[in-house]
Amino acid sequence: MQADDTHEWYLDRLSAYIDGELDAAEALEVAAHLASCEQCSADYSLLLSTVESMRQHLPPLKAPNALRQRIVAGIREPSQPIPARERTIRTARSYRAWALAASVVAMIGVAYGIGARASSSPSAGETAEAMLTAHVRSLQLGHLTDVVSTDQHTVKPWFTGKLDFSPAVPRLESEGFPLVGGRLDYVGHRAVAALVYQRRAHIINVLTYPSESAANVPPHLETRRGFQIANWSAGGMAYWAVSDLNADELRTFCTLMREADVAR
Ligand SMILES: [Zn+2]
Repeated sequence: MQADDTHEWYLDRLSAYIDGELDAAEALEVAAHLASCEQCSADYSLLLSTVESMRQHLPPLKAPNALRQRIVAGIREPSQPIPARERTIRTARSYRAWALAASVVAMIGVAYGIGARASSSPSAGETAEAMLTAHVRSLQLGHLTDVVSTDQHTVKPWFTGKLDFSPAVPRLESEGFPLVGGRLDYVGHRAVAALVYQRRAHIINVLTYPSESAANVPPHLETRRGFQIANWSAGGMAYWAVSDLNADELRTFCTLMREADVAR
C-alpha cells in the first residue's frame, strides 16, 4: 500500500474500515495508524459513535439529514477536490454518508482552522471550533436536550444543582424563536449550559458559562463550515450561539437574547 504521509489516506478509509470492507492489508495498515495517531484515532472514535448512534436511532435521526446534506454540499465548495472521498460519498449508504460527513467535518476543520487562527486569536478560534463541534455533536448523536420544555420556568431550575451558575433562559417564542429545552454540555473541559431554541426548522444552540472578564462585548458573528457562530458576553456570562440559520436572523436572535438578559 502506498499510504502517504498525510492523514487523509486513512481518513478516507475509516468508513470502510468500520464496515469491514477493506482488504486485510489495508485494514492492518489503518489499525496500525490508529494505534499511533491521536488525530485519526479521535476522528475514528467520532465516526464510530456516529455510526453506532445511527444504528440505534435510525428513525429519530431522520431530521439531521438536512444538516448532512449541507455538510456534504459544503465539502464540494472548497477548492480541494479529493476524488476518492467524493466517490465514496456517492456510493455510500445513508448512514455511511452521514458518518463520512462527520469525518470530513473533522478534516475540513483541520484545513480551515489554520486560516481562521491566523486572523483571530488562537484561543477565540479554538473556542469557536469547540462550540461548533458541540453543536454538530448534539445533532448527530440525537442528544439535543436533557430537559425538553418550552417553558423557561422548567428549563432554568433544571440546571440548579447541576451547574455552579444559573443561566438566563429568556422566552422568545413571541419573537419567533421558541425554546426547545436545555442540556448540560462539556466544552473545553468546562461544564456549560446549552439552551436550545428553534427558528422554523433551524436549531440554535446557545452555550453559556461564566465569563473570565466582566466586560460586556457585543455579538461577533463568524461563519465556519457553513454554520453561523455568534459570541458575546453580558452580565459576567459568555455566550456562544451556533446555528445553520442565516446571519441576519441569528443576529436578531442575539440582540433579543442580550436585551432579555439586561431586562431580567
Ligand atoms: Zn493520522
